[in-house]
Amino acid sequence: MITPDRIVTTTCPYCGVGCNLELHVKDDHIFKVTSPFDSPVNHGNLCVKGRFGYDYVYHPKRVTTPLIRKTSQKVGKRTQAFDLSEWREVTWDEALDYVADRLVEIYKRDGSDAMAVYACAKATNEDNYLLQKMYRAIFRTNNVDHCTRLCHAGSVVALQQATGSSAMSNTASQVLQNDVFIVTGSNTSENHPIIALQMKEAVRKHGARMIVIDPRRIELVDFAEMWLPLKPGTNVPVFSAMAHVIVRENLVNWEFVKSRTEGSAEFIESLEKFTPEYAAEISGVPADDIRKAARMYATANKAAIYWGMGISQLSHGTASALALINLAFLTGHIGRDGTGLNPLRGQNNVQGASDMGCMPFHYPGYMRVDNEANAAKWEKTWNVPMGGLSRKLGLTTTEILSHAHEGGIRALYIMGENPMMSEPNLNETRKHMEQLEFLVAQDIFLTESAAYADVFLPATPFAEKDGTFSNTDRRVQRVRAAHPPRGQARVDWQIICDLALRLELRLGLDSAKWDYSGPEQILREMADVNPDYTGVTYDRIDKTGLIYPVPDLTHPGTPTLFTESFPRGLGKFHPLDYVPVMEAADDEYPFILTTGRVLEHWHGGSMTRNSSLDEAFPEARVEIHPADADIHGIRNGDPVKVQSRRGEVVLRATVTEKTTVGVVFIPFHFVEAAANLLTNDALDPQAKIPEFKACAVQVFPARESDLPNPENMVQRGRY
Ligand code: SF4
Repeated sequence: MITPDRIVTTTCPYCGVGCNLELHVKDDHIFKVTSPFDSPVNHGNLCVKGRFGYDYVYHPKRVTTPLIRKTSQKVGKRTQAFDLSEWREVTWDEALDYVADRLVEIYKRDGSDAMAVYACAKATNEDNYLLQKMYRAIFRTNNVDHCTRLCHAGSVVALQQATGSSAMSNTASQVLQNDVFIVTGSNTSENHPIIALQMKEAVRKHGARMIVIDPRRIELVDFAEMWLPLKPGTNVPVFSAMAHVIVRENLVNWEFVKSRTEGSAEFIESLEKFTPEYAAEISGVPADDIRKAARMYATANKAAIYWGMGISQLSHGTASALALINLAFLTGHIGRDGTGLNPLRGQNNVQGASDMGCMPFHYPGYMRVDNEANAAKWEKTWNVPMGGLSRKLGLTTTEILSHAHEGGIRALYIMGENPMMSEPNLNETRKHMEQLEFLVAQDIFLTESAAYADVFLPATPFAEKDGTFSNTDRRVQRVRAAHPPRGQARVDWQIICDLALRLELRLGLDSAKWDYSGPEQILREMADVNPDYTGVTYDRIDKTGLIYPVPDLTHPGTPTLFTESFPRGLGKFHPLDYVPVMEAADDEYPFILTTGRVLEHWHGGSMTRNSSLDEAFPEARVEIHPADADIHGIRNGDPVKVQSRRGEVVLRATVTEKTTVGVVFIPFHFVEAAANLLTNDALDPQAKIPEFKACAVQVFPARESDLPNPENMVQRGRY
């Protein structure tokens, strides 16, 4: 039995649930993780990632020294270097001076539009706030974005349009107060395991009735009263048909509709065509099941909707989320405890990175960049001359890369993101990466994207930094360092401040606003301007965090939004049309591929695949229904080739009824069979989120020898 030197309380670095962790530390090494039973989010429960997924912090492949590529990269011929012999170890001064020189050279030559930055949903609020500040205040560009674009941008835009807010309206634990709840487009058991536990508790102990609407037979189906297995991308007709039934059977909450919403007449008129039979024909869900689900939801006293990326990651992701919002408005299941519209946010701090303004249209606090009053506030705070900040909307993540060409983006700074795994249509992404003139990676591993960089700046993981994360509930919680950084690695906010000072020196700027004493001072600067965070201080969030909005220093936080009104005043109904997915199955590509996560892994795998979790789930698998496998002569464990119009991967098959006939599923964590080589880069026109959840593929039997060679993976920094 090891006696810890100390036990450090912090917040989980993986998903948006934001579980509280206790890191047991001996000799500056974490040897065990537990959770306090009185933690308000997870009550002592942890999933396998939180409990065991911490040892990537000590992985030998972690890079802890600043690096500069030995041979200079040429535009159009940029290559990946996973082998450290292709890099030169340098001092921090040399690395930061070089980055500052090159960024300033490009900025002076090509201006603001040539500069872009990816912020990081895994880093702290303080890190993210400073990164967007550096690009906005120094390079005067709004080309700032992060992976919210790739997961919930459709939900964010829809909620903004309909309510004026973009976060979950209630907390996840309020599921215990629901009479009825809908889970849709979310494999909650694998993506948000502790919320799934609460959902099961709601059913088993509190008698709640769960409706699952999802193309896959996810684990929660075992606990649900109804499962509506719709075809991928048919959300709008199914939800609109439910609305049709609610209107037709006079189950509408007219008092709510009249007093709290606008646009109901036009919306109700638009529902005429969405009969359950019409939706059944498109979605494959029986019309009577649509009727029953609509009645269950509408007649409940307290009902809520929880959704995931199956709603938002579509070329009509905004419309899908709006269809859910219309249902809540029609029934009045919003603005009270135990009701609500709840997009379950993916990464540990994707909510916080969005709150901090790491988006191309918003400053911190979701203040539009094209609004004069907003710009003036941040000019004053950042000591930028009046009119100095750009009022022009910036580019989104996917657009930043597709604009990497002469006259477009020339220099890209990536903090912690890995577009070479997370962007759709990776073969196209690779071409864009090759077109960059200068690339900086600030990370802990040489990821598939960092391997393209000119300079690598070694940062720290969660266990070596202080700050805050904001979870999917809008709860702002403390992150605490368990031990000092390994090697020469430095915390992100310090790297940014050191670089910002060098940039200002070279550009003759003198804001004197980069000499922070620590992350608490950084949060205070942001909170003094962002009313949602005004009452958030490190003292106040020390034990249990605070759920924003926290408008003043005595406010207790706001678990339930919209109790009196919506931020935009009245909630706005949106009439919708059914728009099919961009790429339907056909004779050549007869399956629809849908992608997502598995319990043991996280995103591009840079953390979990460099942890002991990789032993529990060591290889990519494609899930295929037994009926489809039979037709193609595929048995469980056979190697298969999955091919789309954009690329192909070879991996083993799992024959399972978890997926439905005509649909195959591949998790997106595995570089050796990267699902995003196949996915479609068609974008939702409003949210600019790609259609990860549906593209047409073909599946062929393959040979053992076609499987990717693990030896090659060694060279790529994995295994
Ligand atoms: Fe971490 Fe999410 Fe698992 Fe909680 S549910 S332990 S936050 S990964």
